[in-house]
Amino acid sequence: MTERRNDERPGWRGAKQLTLLPDGEAPEEFDSSPSGSTLNPWEALPVRLGNATIASVDSRSILTPASGFAKRYKFTLNPYGGCGFGCEYCYARFFAPSSDLQDTWGSWVTVKRNAIRLIKQAQTARSVAGRLETDDAVYMSTVTDPYQPIEMQAHLTRAILEELLVVQPRLTIQTRSPIVTRDIDLLRQFRRIRVNFTVTTDSESVRLRYEPHCPAINVRLDAAAELATAGVPIGVSISPMLPITDAVSFGQRLSGLNASEYVTQFLKPARGRFSAGSTVEAIRKMKEDGWTEQQYQRIRSVLVDQLGPGRRLLEGTDGYAPA
Ligand code: SF4
Repeated sequence: MTERRNDERPGWRGAKQLTLLPDGEAPEEFDSSPSGSTLNPWEALPVRLGNATIASVDSRSILTPASGFAKRYKFTLNPYGGCGFGCEYCYARFFAPSSDLQDTWGSWVTVKRNAIRLIKQAQTARSVAGRLETDDAVYMSTVTDPYQPIEMQAHLTRAILEELLVVQPRLTIQTRSPIVTRDIDLLRQFRRIRVNFTVTTDSESVRLRYEPHCPAINVRLDAAAELATAGVPIGVSISPMLPITDAVSFGQRLSGLNASEYVTQFLKPARGRFSAGSTVEAIRKMKEDGWTEQQYQRIRSVLVDQLGPGRRLLEGTDGYAPA
């Protein structure tokens, strides 16, 4: 049995706060979600999926006191570290625990295999601030996509939903992945829930330029419609808004989803290596594409018109209210 640490794996230097168990040793909590979840044993997961190296880790925490744009929530919940979607503009990279991991964002993912145990512990935490209770607002996720490709095999987000169902928090899910439709049976059982779909543009060529590893736009919109048809409340996040080709048609299609919340935001400016903001590369592409804040405001007004009365297009932190 060989013990490996994250910092001995390619692309993992600097992630010393995360400790791997010995090879092949699965913690008992990994298959202990309430309804006999389909969680996969960690050794069954691939070591690589798409562009990303996959590792299973014990995380220090899973429910984090919310702050910043999510401050109206009690907790944020990130089942994974890193994100296999690796969007060009992603500001979440700046929250990776080392500059090495920031620089290689999109090429590594950690599966927090002790997540279920941590959520169970939070239900009996002594401090009110750390305790997960019914109707607490939980945002899943802020610095990863809970339905990124590895979820198809790990089933970790599904197991987390099973555990959260016991508590019934006010759950907001943020994703751009159609994998979320797999869990409609669970999502429908939450008393207060909203699934926010991120759709950044109407153009496949723009998507391929800024977020080539993400699902196609039509696939996302179809998945959002499927959830809505199944009775799961949805939101639409045009955030960050990338160049839009046909704002009228796009707005009409978004309107037809009958989402309970629409939110948008211009790409955050680059703020340097150690602060959240868009990457220099994303900003460079925006300039090449002639995508300016004035253009954004013009498209935003067209979308407001197309969404029609009674539907607001909120901006930035005004959106993302708890479910
Ligand atoms: S899906 Fe979200 S968290 Fe993942 S890389 Fe893209 S913007 Fe970042």
